[in-house]
Amino acid sequence: QKFSSVGLIVGVTGIVGNSLAEILPLHDTPGGPWKVYGVARRPRPTWSADHPIEYIQCDVGDAGDAQAKLSPLTDVTHVFYVSWTSRATAEEDCEANGRMLRNVLQTLVPNCPNLRHICLQTGWKHYLGPHQLFGDFQPHEPPFHEDLPRLPVPNFYHDMEDILFEEAQKKEDLSWSIHRPATIFGFSPYSLMNVVGSLAVYAAICKHLGRPLKFPGNRNSWEGYAAASDADLIAEHHIWASVDPYARNEAFNCSNGDVFKWKHLWRVLADQFGVEFEEFDGKGFSVAEELKDKGAVWEEMVRENGLTETRLEEVGNWWFMDGILNLNDSYLDSMNKSKEHGFLGFRNTEKSLISWIDKMRAYKIVP
Ligand code: NDP
Repeated sequence: QKFSSVGLIVGVTGIVGNSLAEILPLHDTPGGPWKVYGVARRPRPTWSADHPIEYIQCDVGDAGDAQAKLSPLTDVTHVFYVSWTSRATAEEDCEANGRMLRNVLQTLVPNCPNLRHICLQTGWKHYLGPHQLFGDFQPHEPPFHEDLPRLPVPNFYHDMEDILFEEAQKKEDLSWSIHRPATIFGFSPYSLMNVVGSLAVYAAICKHLGRPLKFPGNRNSWEGYAAASDADLIAEHHIWASVDPYARNEAFNCSNGDVFKWKHLWRVLADQFGVEFEEFDGKGFSVAEELKDKGAVWEEMVRENGLTETRLEEVGNWWFMDGILNLNDSYLDSMNKSKEHGFLGFRNTEKSLISWIDKMRAYKIVP
Protein backbone atom coordinates (compact mmCIF):
# COMPACT_ATOMS: atom_id res chain seq x y z
CA GLN A 1 0.00 0.00 0.00
CA LYS A 2 1.13 3.53 -0.75
CA PHE A 3 0.97 5.88 2.27
CA SER A 4 0.61 9.67 2.22
CA SER A 5 1.80 10.13 5.82
CA VAL A 6 3.78 8.14 8.37
CA GLY A 7 2.99 8.82 12.02
CA LEU A 8 5.05 7.90 15.07
CA ILE A 9 3.06 7.85 18.33
CA VAL A 10 5.32 8.13 21.37
CA GLY A 11 3.25 6.74 24.26
CA VAL A 12 1.03 4.53 22.11
CA THR A 13 -0.54 2.65 25.05
CA GLY A 14 -1.35 5.85 26.95
CA ILE A 15 -4.74 7.47 27.25
CA VAL A 16 -4.43 9.55 24.05
CA GLY A 17 -1.88 7.25 22.40
CA ASN A 18 -4.49 4.50 22.33
CA SER A 19 -7.03 6.80 20.63
CA LEU A 20 -4.44 7.93 18.07
CA ALA A 21 -3.54 4.29 17.34
CA GLU A 22 -7.19 3.58 16.65
CA ILE A 23 -8.03 6.71 14.62
CA LEU A 24 -4.89 7.36 12.53
CA PRO A 25 -5.08 4.12 10.50
CA LEU A 26 -8.77 4.65 9.54
CA HIS A 27 -9.32 5.10 5.81
CA ASP A 28 -10.96 8.55 6.11
CA THR A 29 -8.48 10.17 8.56
CA PRO A 30 -7.20 13.53 7.23
CA GLY A 31 -3.69 13.29 5.76
CA GLY A 32 -4.12 9.57 5.12
CA PRO A 33 -3.67 6.82 4.28
CA TRP A 34 -1.40 6.69 7.33
CA LYS A 35 1.29 4.19 8.16
CA VAL A 36 1.65 4.20 11.94
CA TYR A 37 4.44 3.31 14.37
CA GLY A 38 3.75 3.23 18.09
CA VAL A 39 6.29 3.33 20.92
CA ALA A 40 6.06 2.33 24.61
CA ARG A 41 8.29 0.48 27.09
CA ARG A 42 6.08 -2.44 28.11
CA PRO A 43 5.23 -5.32 25.74
CA ARG A 44 2.17 -4.78 23.59
CA PRO A 45 -0.96 -5.38 25.72
CA THR A 46 -3.90 -7.44 24.42
CA TRP A 47 -6.21 -4.41 24.40
CA SER A 48 -3.99 -2.64 21.85
CA ALA A 49 -3.39 -5.68 19.62
CA ASP A 50 -6.14 -4.91 17.07
CA HIS A 51 -4.77 -1.55 15.96
CA PRO A 52 -3.01 -1.88 12.58
CA ILE A 53 0.24 -0.30 13.70
CA GLU A 54 3.87 -1.36 14.03
CA TYR A 55 4.56 -1.67 17.77
CA ILE A 56 8.03 -0.78 18.98
CA GLN A 57 9.16 -1.48 22.52
CA CYS A 58 11.61 1.24 23.43
CA ASP A 59 12.57 3.29 26.48
CA VAL A 60 12.92 6.78 25.08
CA GLY A 61 14.43 7.93 28.38
CA ASP A 62 17.50 5.89 27.40
CA ALA A 63 19.41 7.68 24.60
CA GLY A 64 21.00 4.43 23.37
CA ASP A 65 17.69 2.58 23.16
CA ALA A 66 16.01 5.53 21.42
CA GLN A 67 18.84 5.72 18.89
CA ALA A 68 18.82 1.96 18.26
CA LYS A 69 15.04 1.56 17.88
CA LEU A 70 14.02 4.87 16.31
CA SER A 71 16.86 5.71 13.89
CA PRO A 72 15.75 2.97 11.41
CA LEU A 73 12.33 4.70 11.08
CA THR A 74 13.52 7.06 8.33
CA ASP A 75 10.08 7.39 6.68
CA VAL A 76 8.37 9.20 9.60
CA THR A 77 6.55 12.38 8.50
CA HIS A 78 4.65 13.23 11.73
CA VAL A 79 5.42 12.77 15.43
CA PHE A 80 2.65 12.59 18.03
CA TYR A 81 4.30 12.98 21.43
CA VAL A 82 1.77 11.83 24.05
CA SER A 83 4.02 10.52 26.79
CA TRP A 84 5.42 11.64 30.12
CA THR A 85 6.99 10.29 33.25
CA SER A 86 6.40 11.26 36.87
CA ARG A 87 9.15 11.99 39.42
CA ALA A 88 9.13 13.13 43.05
CA THR A 89 9.99 16.79 42.46
CA ALA A 90 9.14 19.37 39.80
CA GLU A 91 12.86 19.73 38.99
CA GLU A 92 13.24 15.97 38.48
CA ASP A 93 10.17 16.01 36.22
CA CYS A 94 11.86 18.69 34.11
CA GLU A 95 15.03 16.64 33.74
CA ALA A 96 13.39 13.27 33.02
CA ASN A 97 10.71 14.55 30.63
CA GLY A 98 13.12 16.87 28.86
CA ARG A 99 15.52 13.96 28.32
CA MET A 100 12.78 11.73 26.85
CA LEU A 101 11.60 14.31 24.31
CA ARG A 102 15.16 15.31 23.40
CA ASN A 103 16.17 11.68 22.79
CA VAL A 104 13.21 11.21 20.43
CA LEU A 105 13.69 14.43 18.47
CA GLN A 106 17.49 14.25 18.28
CA THR A 107 17.12 10.81 16.72
CA LEU A 108 14.27 11.61 14.32
CA VAL A 109 15.03 15.13 13.10
CA PRO A 110 18.39 14.26 11.44
CA ASN A 111 17.24 10.81 10.27
CA CYS A 112 13.83 11.54 8.69
CA PRO A 113 14.17 13.60 5.50
CA ASN A 114 10.38 13.94 5.13
CA LEU A 115 9.59 14.89 8.72
CA ARG A 116 6.96 17.67 8.52
CA HIS A 117 5.25 18.16 11.87
CA ILE A 118 5.61 17.43 15.58
CA CYS A 119 2.57 17.46 17.92
CA LEU A 120 3.46 17.83 21.60
CA GLN A 121 0.82 17.18 24.22
CA THR A 122 1.09 19.08 27.47
CA GLY A 123 -1.97 20.28 29.45
CA TRP A 124 -3.47 22.58 32.05
CA LYS A 125 -0.41 22.34 34.29
CA HIS A 126 0.78 25.05 31.90
CA TYR A 127 -1.70 27.35 33.71
CA LEU A 128 -1.82 25.64 37.11
CA GLY A 129 1.86 24.83 37.59
CA PRO A 130 3.38 21.49 38.65
CA HIS A 131 1.30 19.46 41.12
CA GLN A 132 4.27 19.08 43.51
CA LEU A 133 4.24 22.85 44.13
CA PHE A 134 0.46 23.44 44.37
CA GLY A 135 -0.21 25.92 47.14
CA ASP A 136 3.26 27.49 46.94
CA PHE A 137 2.45 30.00 44.20
CA GLN A 138 -0.50 31.72 42.52
CA PRO A 139 -1.79 29.83 39.46
CA HIS A 140 -3.43 31.66 36.56
CA GLU A 141 -7.02 32.76 36.90
CA PRO A 142 -9.51 30.74 34.81
CA PRO A 143 -10.76 30.68 32.12
CA PHE A 144 -7.33 29.75 30.77
CA HIS A 145 -6.31 31.02 27.35
CA GLU A 146 -3.20 30.22 25.37
CA ASP A 147 -1.63 33.69 25.62
CA LEU A 148 -1.17 33.58 29.39
CA PRO A 149 2.53 33.88 30.30
CA ARG A 150 4.55 31.04 31.82
CA LEU A 151 4.30 30.81 35.60
CA PRO A 152 7.60 31.50 37.37
CA VAL A 153 8.03 27.95 38.72
CA PRO A 154 9.88 24.86 37.39
CA ASN A 155 7.51 23.10 35.00
CA PHE A 156 8.43 20.24 32.66
CA TYR A 157 6.01 21.64 30.07
CA HIS A 158 8.27 24.70 29.67
CA ASP A 159 11.34 22.47 29.21
CA MET A 160 9.53 20.32 26.65
CA GLU A 161 8.31 23.37 24.72
CA ASP A 162 11.82 24.82 24.58
CA ILE A 163 13.27 21.51 23.37
CA LEU A 164 10.53 21.32 20.73
CA PHE A 165 11.28 24.86 19.47
CA GLU A 166 15.02 24.19 19.42
CA GLU A 167 14.80 20.89 17.55
CA ALA A 168 12.08 22.01 15.09
CA GLN A 169 14.15 24.94 13.87
CA LYS A 170 16.96 22.57 12.83
CA LYS A 171 15.00 21.54 9.76
CA GLU A 172 13.38 23.72 7.13
CA ASP A 173 9.59 23.33 6.81
CA LEU A 174 9.31 21.36 10.04
CA SER A 175 6.32 22.70 11.99
CA TRP A 176 4.98 21.99 15.48
CA SER A 177 1.82 22.32 17.56
CA ILE A 178 1.22 22.14 21.30
CA HIS A 179 -1.99 20.63 22.71
CA ARG A 180 -3.21 21.51 26.21
CA PRO A 181 -6.09 19.27 27.31
CA ALA A 182 -8.04 19.39 30.59
CA THR A 183 -8.61 16.17 32.58
CA ILE A 184 -8.70 13.43 29.95
CA PHE A 185 -11.57 10.93 29.64
CA GLY A 186 -10.31 7.94 27.71
CA PHE A 187 -9.24 4.30 27.73
CA SER A 188 -5.90 2.95 28.93
CA PRO A 189 -5.13 0.59 31.79
CA TYR A 190 -1.49 1.74 31.44
CA SER A 191 -2.10 5.47 31.93
CA LEU A 192 -0.56 7.34 34.87
CA MET A 193 -3.65 9.56 35.05
CA ASN A 194 -6.91 7.93 33.98
CA VAL A 195 -9.80 9.43 35.90
CA VAL A 196 -12.60 7.46 34.16
CA GLY A 197 -10.70 4.22 34.71
CA SER A 198 -10.18 5.07 38.38
CA LEU A 199 -13.83 6.08 38.87
CA ALA A 200 -15.07 2.92 37.16
CA VAL A 201 -12.86 0.67 39.28
CA TYR A 202 -13.89 2.54 42.44
CA ALA A 203 -17.61 2.19 41.55
CA ALA A 204 -17.17 -1.52 40.72
CA ILE A 205 -15.48 -2.09 44.10
CA CYS A 206 -18.30 -0.24 45.94
CA LYS A 207 -20.81 -2.45 44.13
CA HIS A 208 -18.85 -5.61 44.95
CA LEU A 209 -18.65 -4.64 48.65
CA GLY A 210 -22.35 -3.66 48.76
CA ARG A 211 -21.53 -0.05 49.67
CA PRO A 212 -23.10 3.17 48.32
CA LEU A 213 -21.06 5.38 45.97
CA LYS A 214 -19.62 7.97 48.36
CA PHE A 215 -17.98 11.08 46.89
CA PRO A 216 -14.40 11.26 48.13
CA GLY A 217 -13.84 14.94 47.22
CA ASN A 218 -14.63 18.41 48.53
CA ARG A 219 -17.69 20.69 48.30
CA ASN A 220 -16.10 22.84 45.62
CA SER A 221 -15.54 19.90 43.26
CA TRP A 222 -19.02 18.51 43.94
CA GLU A 223 -20.83 21.83 43.25
CA GLY A 224 -18.47 23.72 40.97
CA TYR A 225 -18.14 23.73 37.20
CA ALA A 226 -15.45 21.57 35.64
CA ALA A 227 -14.27 20.68 32.12
CA ALA A 228 -12.87 17.53 30.56
CA SER A 229 -11.23 16.44 27.30
CA ASP A 230 -12.29 13.30 25.47
CA ALA A 231 -9.26 11.28 24.30
CA ASP A 232 -10.70 10.74 20.80
CA LEU A 233 -11.35 14.48 20.52
CA ILE A 234 -7.73 15.19 21.49
CA ALA A 235 -6.55 12.68 18.87
CA GLU A 236 -8.69 14.50 16.26
CA HIS A 237 -7.18 17.81 17.45
CA HIS A 238 -3.63 16.45 17.02
CA ILE A 239 -4.45 15.16 13.53
CA TRP A 240 -6.11 18.45 12.55
CA ALA A 241 -3.07 20.44 13.68
CA SER A 242 -0.68 18.08 11.93
CA VAL A 243 -2.27 18.57 8.49
CA ASP A 244 -3.88 22.05 8.57
CA PRO A 245 -1.46 24.89 7.68
CA TYR A 246 -3.46 27.36 9.86
CA ALA A 247 -2.55 25.39 12.96
CA ARG A 248 1.22 25.43 12.38
CA ASN A 249 3.52 26.59 15.15
CA GLU A 250 0.80 27.38 17.67
CA ALA A 251 -0.30 26.17 21.11
CA PHE A 252 -3.98 25.27 21.58
CA ASN A 253 -6.26 24.35 24.45
CA CYS A 254 -8.26 21.22 23.75
CA SER A 255 -11.38 20.58 25.85
CA ASN A 256 -14.85 19.22 25.13
CA GLY A 257 -16.54 22.61 24.83
CA ASP A 258 -19.15 22.03 27.55
CA VAL A 259 -18.99 22.20 31.35
CA PHE A 260 -20.19 19.73 33.94
CA LYS A 261 -20.57 19.28 37.69
CA TRP A 262 -19.26 16.17 39.42
CA LYS A 263 -22.51 15.87 41.36
CA HIS A 264 -24.30 15.21 38.04
CA LEU A 265 -21.69 12.79 36.68
CA TRP A 266 -21.73 11.00 40.03
CA ARG A 267 -25.33 9.94 39.39
CA VAL A 268 -24.39 8.73 35.90
CA LEU A 269 -21.50 6.72 37.34
CA ALA A 270 -23.75 5.16 39.98
CA ASP A 271 -26.30 4.19 37.28
CA GLN A 272 -23.63 2.63 35.10
CA PHE A 273 -22.56 0.27 37.87
CA GLY A 274 -25.96 -0.25 39.49
CA VAL A 275 -24.61 1.07 42.78
CA GLU A 276 -26.52 3.26 45.21
CA PHE A 277 -25.99 7.00 44.59
CA GLU A 278 -25.18 9.05 47.67
CA GLU A 279 -25.38 12.85 47.98
CA PHE A 280 -22.14 14.46 49.18
CA ASP A 281 -22.28 14.62 52.98
CA GLY A 282 -19.61 17.31 53.35
CA LYS A 283 -17.10 14.80 54.70
CA GLY A 284 -14.40 14.13 52.18
CA PHE A 285 -11.93 11.27 52.43
CA SER A 286 -8.93 10.08 50.49
CA VAL A 287 -9.74 7.35 47.99
CA ALA A 288 -6.04 6.42 48.00
CA GLU A 289 -6.28 5.75 51.77
CA GLU A 290 -9.61 3.98 51.41
CA LEU A 291 -8.44 1.55 48.72
CA LYS A 292 -4.82 0.99 49.74
CA ASP A 293 -5.53 -2.50 51.10
CA LYS A 294 -8.06 -3.57 48.44
CA GLY A 295 -5.59 -5.28 46.07
CA ALA A 296 -6.85 -8.73 47.05
CA VAL A 297 -10.48 -7.65 46.59
CA TRP A 298 -9.65 -6.53 43.06
CA GLU A 299 -7.85 -9.83 42.32
CA GLU A 300 -10.96 -11.68 43.45
CA MET A 301 -13.19 -9.48 41.26
CA VAL A 302 -10.94 -10.07 38.24
CA ARG A 303 -11.10 -13.84 38.81
CA GLU A 304 -14.83 -14.05 39.53
CA ASN A 305 -15.81 -11.92 36.52
CA GLY A 306 -13.28 -13.35 34.05
CA LEU A 307 -11.69 -9.89 33.56
CA THR A 308 -8.43 -9.08 31.78
CA GLU A 309 -5.55 -9.49 34.29
CA THR A 310 -4.74 -6.10 35.82
CA ARG A 311 -3.33 -4.94 39.13
CA LEU A 312 -5.32 -2.47 41.21
CA GLU A 313 -2.48 0.04 41.32
CA GLU A 314 -2.34 -0.05 37.50
CA VAL A 315 -6.04 0.62 36.85
CA GLY A 316 -6.67 2.95 39.79
CA ASN A 317 -4.70 6.21 39.79
CA TRP A 318 -5.92 7.19 43.23
CA TRP A 319 -3.60 10.17 43.85
CA PHE A 320 -4.94 11.65 40.60
CA MET A 321 -8.59 11.00 41.44
CA ASP A 322 -8.03 12.56 44.89
CA GLY A 323 -6.48 15.60 43.21
CA ILE A 324 -9.22 16.07 40.59
CA LEU A 325 -12.03 15.78 43.16
CA ASN A 326 -10.45 18.17 45.69
CA LEU A 327 -9.95 21.33 43.67
CA ASN A 328 -10.39 24.70 45.33
CA ASP A 329 -11.65 26.60 42.30
CA SER A 330 -13.67 25.98 39.13
CA TYR A 331 -11.03 25.55 36.47
CA LEU A 332 -12.19 26.13 32.89
CA ASP A 333 -10.47 27.01 29.63
CA SER A 334 -11.39 28.75 26.41
CA MET A 335 -11.63 26.96 23.06
CA ASN A 336 -11.83 30.23 21.12
CA LYS A 337 -8.36 29.95 19.64
CA SER A 338 -8.94 26.44 18.27
CA LYS A 339 -12.26 27.51 16.77
CA GLU A 340 -10.76 30.68 15.27
CA HIS A 341 -8.11 28.51 13.64
CA GLY A 342 -10.69 26.11 12.21
CA PHE A 343 -11.10 23.26 14.72
CA LEU A 344 -14.80 22.93 15.55
CA GLY A 345 -14.74 19.51 17.24
CA PHE A 346 -16.54 19.00 20.55
CA ARG A 347 -17.85 16.26 22.85
CA ASN A 348 -20.76 15.89 25.25
CA THR A 349 -18.91 15.10 28.49
CA GLU A 350 -21.66 12.95 29.98
CA LYS A 351 -21.85 10.80 26.83
CA SER A 352 -18.04 10.69 26.75
CA LEU A 353 -17.97 9.27 30.30
CA ILE A 354 -20.49 6.56 29.38
CA SER A 355 -18.69 5.65 26.15
CA TRP A 356 -15.36 5.08 27.95
CA ILE A 357 -17.02 2.96 30.64
CA ASP A 358 -18.61 0.92 27.81
CA LYS A 359 -15.18 0.49 26.24
CA MET A 360 -13.68 -0.67 29.55
CA ARG A 361 -16.46 -3.25 29.76
CA ALA A 362 -15.93 -4.37 26.16
CA TYR A 363 -12.24 -5.02 26.93
CA LYS A 364 -13.15 -6.71 30.22
CA ILE A 365 -11.29 -4.22 32.41
CA VAL A 366 -14.30 -3.73 34.72
CA PRO A 367 -17.32 -5.96 35.37
P1 NDP B 1 -0.26 8.29 29.77
O1 NDP B 1 0.26 8.23 31.16
O2 NDP B 1 -1.69 7.93 29.56
O3 NDP B 1 0.62 7.38 28.82
C1 NDP B 1 2.02 7.47 28.76
C2 NDP B 1 2.50 6.60 27.63
O4 NDP B 1 3.90 6.79 27.46
C3 NDP B 1 2.30 5.11 27.84
O5 NDP B 1 2.09 4.49 26.59
C4 NDP B 1 3.63 4.67 28.43
O6 NDP B 1 3.81 3.28 28.25
C5 NDP B 1 4.58 5.52 27.58
N1 NDP B 1 5.88 5.81 28.18
C6 NDP B 1 6.13 6.29 29.43
N2 NDP B 1 7.45 6.41 29.63
C7 NDP B 1 8.05 5.98 28.49
C8 NDP B 1 9.41 5.84 28.08
N3 NDP B 1 10.43 6.15 28.90
N4 NDP B 1 9.67 5.36 26.85
C9 NDP B 1 8.66 5.03 26.00
N5 NDP B 1 7.35 5.15 26.33
C10 NDP B 1 7.06 5.61 27.56
O7 NDP B 1 0.01 9.75 29.14
P2 NDP B 1 -0.96 11.02 29.05
O8 NDP B 1 -1.61 11.08 27.71
O9 NDP B 1 -1.80 11.12 30.28
O10 NDP B 1 0.13 12.18 29.17
C11 NDP B 1 0.70 12.87 28.08
C12 NDP B 1 0.70 14.35 28.46
O11 NDP B 1 -0.66 14.76 28.67
C13 NDP B 1 1.44 14.62 29.78
O12 NDP B 1 2.19 15.80 29.65
C14 NDP B 1 0.31 14.82 30.78
O13 NDP B 1 0.68 15.67 31.86
C15 NDP B 1 -0.74 15.49 29.88
N6 NDP B 1 -2.11 15.49 30.41
C16 NDP B 1 -2.71 14.33 30.85
C17 NDP B 1 -3.98 14.38 31.40
C18 NDP B 1 -4.71 13.13 31.85
O14 NDP B 1 -5.85 13.25 32.39
N7 NDP B 1 -4.16 11.94 31.66
C19 NDP B 1 -4.70 15.66 31.54
C20 NDP B 1 -4.05 16.77 30.91
C21 NDP B 1 -2.78 16.68 30.41
P3 NDP B 1 4.93 2.47 29.13
O15 NDP B 1 4.71 2.88 30.56
O16 NDP B 1 4.68 1.02 28.85
O17 NDP B 1 6.24 2.94 28.60
